[in-house]
Amino acid sequence: MLQKVHDGKTRTVLVAGGAGFVGSHLCDALLLRGDRVICVDSFLTGSKINVQPLENHPRFRLIEQDVCHFSDIDEPVHQVYNLACAASPPSYQADPVHTMMTCVAGTGNLLALAESHNASFLQASTSEVYGDPEEHPQREDYRGNVSCTGPRACYDEGKRAAEALCFDMLRTGRTDARVVRIFNTYGPRMQPNDGRIISNLLVQALSGDPLTIYGNGEQTRSFCFVTDLVAGLMALMDVEPNPGAPVNIGNPGEFTINELAAMIQTMVAGGSGIVYRPLPKDDPQRRRPDIARARELLDWEPKVPLSQGLQQTADYFASVLIESEQRATPSRARPHPGPTDALQIGA
Ligand code: NAD
Ligand code: UDP
Repeated sequence: MLQKVHDGKTRTVLVAGGAGFVGSHLCDALLLRGDRVICVDSFLTGSKINVQPLENHPRFRLIEQDVCHFSDIDEPVHQVYNLACAASPPSYQADPVHTMMTCVAGTGNLLALAESHNASFLQASTSEVYGDPEEHPQREDYRGNVSCTGPRACYDEGKRAAEALCFDMLRTGRTDARVVRIFNTYGPRMQPNDGRIISNLLVQALSGDPLTIYGNGEQTRSFCFVTDLVAGLMALMDVEPNPGAPVNIGNPGEFTINELAAMIQTMVAGGSGIVYRPLPKDDPQRRRPDIARARELLDWEPKVPLSQGLQQTADYFASVLIESEQRATPSRARPHPGPTDALQIGA
């Protein structure tokens, strides 16, 4: 079994997808711990703004590159996190062939890089590997109910293929590969227009627009705050020995979309209504992680309740909306209001 022992010197960690929502928080946490961080990102769905504060950090390096065409790097690397992949349904379906190639060719390239550097590798997989699940909550040994021909397949099947690649590389002794199955995660630095439920509903509520609910809103999701996820990713990367099996990371609190919308309506004053839209094809009806394995192997569990994480995310989007309004109408710009200055956000 491949096993790495950290020698106490500065670790160099490559984060593919490090300019994205989750990746940028991971870069922050790794730098805070004292690691050197190399962020590789094509900026497909991520943003330079997410990593701008790190640009002059002495232990941070940014490489603009599509992982489908990434082969090696000119310095030693000790750990590789692969978060590179569009994650919201509208963005991963916008160019489905590229999404599939990112999952397969991109993951293959990064695994080969990890192999050649004798680095540990962590693959960001997803609860989508369970598809529209027939078992509830979802344990890691459930094999899923996934359409291999539908519009979500580029992502679901791409991530399943990436998992297979990781476990083949591990079984054949070539790479110390680990796989995390991430359940719906939210927080500051999500793109306001990326189409996911929490960013959509918060931005709509803060803008005074009606909240869009797809289907009847009785489908469920379990929402994990980003800092909890990042702690889980780092714990799985660092645990010894390699668990040799995928690990769910998510918050088991389960909410219907109607319940989530009601919470946001209460939190963001202004009285936005609700509009119901058709449910997208293959949209999973229920989703909740069983996190017994993460508890046992990593001593991990989420700490941030939805109400608290939502408030922090609402504050973030409020400040983003104020800044973009100021950019659009500079003559009306004010000094720099706090996030709750112009938009009333209740408790
Ligand atoms: P995100 O879209 O904000 O981040 C993905 C990052 O990868 C972006 O910066 C994007 O520019 C980059 N990227 C995409 N394709 C690339 C390519 N071919 N080459 C280089 N860079 C590329 O999404 P996120 O929410 O931060 O998700 C990060 C990872 O976690 C993704 O792999 C996603 O599948 C996984 N995940 C996230 C969630 C969630 O709820 N956030 C749930 C399950 C899995
Ligand atoms: N959804 C919704 N309104 C929106 C965006 C999403 O009702 O504006 C629903 C979507 O159909 C799904 C759930 O919210 O049932 C979560 O969607 P999201 O895109 O965040 O993530 P998914 O878990 O489907 O990948």
